[in-house]
Amino acid sequence: MARYIIGVDVGGTKIATGVIDKSGKLKKKVILPTLSAKGFKVSLQQVYNSIDEIMNLSKVRKSDIAGIGVCAPGPLDPIKGIVHNPPNLKGWKEVPLVGLLRKKFKKKVKLENDANAAGMAEAIWGAAKGYKHVFYVTVSTGIGTAVIIDGKIYHGKNGMAGEGGHVTINYDGKDEVCGCGNTGCIERLASGPGTVKDLVKKLKKDPSNKTSILDMADGDPGNITMVMVGEAAREGDKLALDTIKEQGRRLGIWLGSMISLLDPEVIVIGGGVSSLGDLILRDIKKAIPPHSINIYAKKTPVVLAKLKRDVGIFGAASVLM
Ligand SMILES: [Zn+2]
Repeated sequence: MARYIIGVDVGGTKIATGVIDKSGKLKKKVILPTLSAKGFKVSLQQVYNSIDEIMNLSKVRKSDIAGIGVCAPGPLDPIKGIVHNPPNLKGWKEVPLVGLLRKKFKKKVKLENDANAAGMAEAIWGAAKGYKHVFYVTVSTGIGTAVIIDGKIYHGKNGMAGEGGHVTINYDGKDEVCGCGNTGCIERLASGPGTVKDLVKKLKKDPSNKTSILDMADGDPGNITMVMVGEAAREGDKLALDTIKEQGRRLGIWLGSMISLLDPEVIVIGGGVSSLGDLILRDIKKAIPPHSINIYAKKTPVVLAKLKRDVGIFGAASVLM
């Protein structure tokens, strides 16, 4: 019986590859540069190399490997196994990645986008273990989501479902254009960069605001990052605390709608924002019930993701479970 799965997390700068056993133990991992600036041929070869290397390093017999799971930045089609044209993988256009890997390694191969894969990993080995209906959210530079119904990722007709980060919250929000081109998406309003953008706006409007965040940024608002905001909040900085409170409120308002729509058993929050812990969780939870028609909304657990490091590898492997 094949006991191991190879998980390949293809990112714009690095490829993280690991061998995981079915109980969720990471046996070995290897990180290679994607070399994406060198174009499609080179970066695809790096994907091949990473798999060859992990097989050599882990000393797992090929017959013990059940398959290869790959997660990559979207847009991609997990049903057809095609990577469309991710902005951070130069030269990748309509790449039939699943077919290519299957031919080369003679193994079962599955492809999934980053957020869906991370959500599945949480459902199998992480904070949502034991639950069948899961809404997973990752809040970092963007907001990605995964909808898991009956233990399966919901893909929709074209494999494009689960883009909860681009739900419109403020449709006529001036100056709130999201990276996707739409106005007032929750990603624009509550992701790390979106939150920082609004904080900088506030600072410019009222320069008398006293905050240690500016000192951390050497006096230049352009240097402010979400990590600085978190640090300042932990030290009790009022502006930082208010900023995170508002970020939590916005996420909660949005999650209230998500609960109305999906009635999940659990909501898992991952990504950079999860390192804020209770600092943000409190305000998320507070904002949910008044913004949901679901009478169980208040009781729906909102928990922090468990798999932090290597979540990409676990995510990639989880789609083969
Ligand atoms: Zn958007």
